[in-house]
Amino acid sequence: MADEALIVLENVNKWFGPLHVLQDVNLSVARGEVVVVIGPSGSGKSTLCRAINRLEPISSGTITFDGQPLPAEGRALAKLRSEVGMVFQSFNLFAHKSILQNVMLGPLKVRKEKPAAVKERAMSLLDRVGIASQADKFPAQLSGGQQQRVAIARALAMQPKALLFDEPTSALDPEMVGEVLDVMTSLARDGMTMVVVTHEMGFARHAANRVVFMADGQLVEQNTPEEFFANPTSERARDFLSKIL
Ligand code: ADP
Ligand code: MG
Repeated sequence: MADEALIVLENVNKWFGPLHVLQDVNLSVARGEVVVVIGPSGSGKSTLCRAINRLEPISSGTITFDGQPLPAEGRALAKLRSEVGMVFQSFNLFAHKSILQNVMLGPLKVRKEKPAAVKERAMSLLDRVGIASQADKFPAQLSGGQQQRVAIARALAMQPKALLFDEPTSALDPEMVGEVLDVMTSLARDGMTMVVVTHEMGFARHAANRVVFMADGQLVEQNTPEEFFANPTSERARDFLSKIL
């Protein structure tokens, strides 16, 4: 089961008008695998993430999740979205709801689960991300790092089969980056399937099974972090790494 592909993109293209932002992208993510996506701004990393849970429809090619083509609409799409959690740069918590309510909302409203069971799971997830003592506070009372950890707990509350992270630490003050990466590293070690867009090369080195380098809408190279950082094969990857390392 370990090598079975959970997310498969085949010849995926995406145009925004004349702009060809995903160009024949092929990518397969196995169950339990952690894939870190890096590359310059504008290279299509966010579009790739958004395509996987169909926040962005693709122009051509196919994406399958857990053996099924991505559904276009309706209940099947809602189910897909609950199985593929997403954590954004901006935490997008509901400001007028408590931390606990934020984490409980999806399972209650989307899944119609029983409140008692949802509350128990939400509290245990808040404990897992180190925020249990803040459960009754409101988002504005928490630091950015704490809010992002709540956003991760909220995604986990839906018991997803995979989590997508789009620059989850880019909006944080530097001293809060580590606490969020620690939570992500722990999820990775526990076998969560993750696609992570990040500029945190330390996380890529230590938590990724594979690093994917994108430039100009193309998946230019992919390799283990050891190989990628030691021997990037493309000029564009070498150039990118020379600027950020
Ligand atoms: P990255 O996340 O790597 O910075 P994006 O996926 O956000 O790149 O964007 C890839 C390209 O697509 C960029 O040129 C961006 O300006 C363009 N783009 C992204 N979203 C839209 C949109 N909704 N409409 C038009 N162009 C877009
Ligand atoms: Mg982006």
